[in-house]
Amino acid sequence: MIDDLRIHAGREGGPLPTGDFVLYWMQGVAMRSRANFALNFAIEQANRLRLPVLVYQGLRHDYPWASDRFHTFILESAVDLYHGFAERGIRYAFYLETAAEQTQRGTGDSPLVALGRRAALVVTDYFPTFIQPRQLKRLREKLEAPVVAVDSATVVPIRFHTREYPAARSIRPVLMEALPHHLFPVPDPDPEIRRPIELPFDELVGAGTDATRISELVGACDIDHTVGPSPTLRGGERAARRRLAWFLQHGLPRYADDRGDPNVDATSRLSSYLHFGNIAIQDVLLAARAAGPAAQYDKFLDEALVWRELAHNLTYLNPRHRSLDAVPPWARKELDDHSADPRPALYDDDTLERGRTADPLWNACQHSLVRDGEIHNYVRMLWGKSVLLWTEDAARALRVLEHLNHKYALDGRDPNSYGGILWCFGRFDRPFYRRPIFGTVRYMSLGAAAGKFDVKAYVARHRAD
Ligand SMILES: Cc1cc2nc3c(=O)[nH]c(=O)nc-3n(C[C@H](O)[C@H](O)[C@H](O)COP(=O)(O)OP(=O)(O)OC[C@H]3O[C@@H](n4cnc5c(N)ncnc54)[C@H](O)[C@@H]3O)c2cc1C
Repeated sequence: MIDDLRIHAGREGGPLPTGDFVLYWMQGVAMRSRANFALNFAIEQANRLRLPVLVYQGLRHDYPWASDRFHTFILESAVDLYHGFAERGIRYAFYLETAAEQTQRGTGDSPLVALGRRAALVVTDYFPTFIQPRQLKRLREKLEAPVVAVDSATVVPIRFHTREYPAARSIRPVLMEALPHHLFPVPDPDPEIRRPIELPFDELVGAGTDATRISELVGACDIDHTVGPSPTLRGGERAARRRLAWFLQHGLPRYADDRGDPNVDATSRLSSYLHFGNIAIQDVLLAARAAGPAAQYDKFLDEALVWRELAHNLTYLNPRHRSLDAVPPWARKELDDHSADPRPALYDDDTLERGRTADPLWNACQHSLVRDGEIHNYVRMLWGKSVLLWTEDAARALRVLEHLNHKYALDGRDPNSYGGILWCFGRFDRPFYRRPIFGTVRYMSLGAAAGKFDVKAYVARHRAD
């Protein structure tokens, strides 16, 4: 049974008696064939209704920042899903909207709507930011069948919290008290009814789709081809599990000591896999707890549970999380009071995006983001804070950070994106001593970074090609 707190139901009535199947509309935030509460809810309901379950996923060309990088990661994930679902005897179907498909379909129903019209019930993933809330609302307007969204992203269900927490120290005790009730291996129930289901489209992807074919398919989509696939991160459940295994053996034992050094591979680098849902946070935490040592696990838990779920809480309860309105009043006032302070330089969007500022460390951070689609947490804080120095005001700095983060980072477009970006402007933080431009909002100096890690080595690794 799924915890009621994970269920985000609409106002619709019960399942339609005429439906042929239960449709699980998987989105790009829960791409895993196991340990998935939304899938489990779909299976439970299908068994109850004596219907088969169909897992459907569609990849459109027109989501914001759509590029080869995200399309490739999603297609790599889909290949693993074909394997994972085949092993479990569950039908998974992936629709890729290539430019040709787009023209052919015109303004007709999307495959999702066509399948939704044949379903008794539609289950999907709950996600508190980016396009998911709007997509959910639109689908509910189009279908007669109920559309139930299920939260599989966090350990403690997002709906457990009824208030917005201003800081890690305020949500920490609440999460730690709730943890024993929510951290357990997620079961994988079996569907009881299996029958073939006809699809309204041709499947272009399957278990055998290889890297060359993925690249061809991505090339046939009407998306931004200038942002290439990540050379360092590959999508899918298998890659996520491999990365977790590597981290448990090599990174976790030194996590607390070395996680602040961007030249050392001591962090999990799982954020992209968590964002796309290739791995369940429960599996990550349970494996880290078992691997220990306890002090290292505690530090990891503080990031992967406390800071991560603080960000989910912000995006779930604050509809203004894409704006400075989500920054506390004291910090907003400080930034306003210092908005006329002279800036050391003002850069246009293009100079920032190309990493052509006068600061080699900032440029290296930006190059790592542009080339690899990932950036180490310590330098990401420096990177984020510095943009305020080079933009007219905090509102533009926020827009620049959102754009760069979402366009290039594989883990972008996530609750954590807003947690991290707004932290640069004082969210979740307290006042520090006063500085120009920042007022009492915490400042981090690119110049002082040399005292923390080997800046020359980092810059050498992330030079522009
Ligand atoms: C300006 C800025 C933008 C950011 N944008 C994103 C983003 O788009 N997506 C994203 O996932 N994270 C973002 N973060 C948070 C953090 O940088 C990344 O989560 C972390 O670097 C991911 O690396 P890792 O997986 O090796 O982390 P680890 O240190 O191994 O931590 C494990 C997991 O805990 C979570 N986590 C770690 N640090 C944080 C944090 N500070 N806040 C919230 N959750 C955290 C992540 O899910 C991470 O995968 C941002 C931070 C800043 C300062």
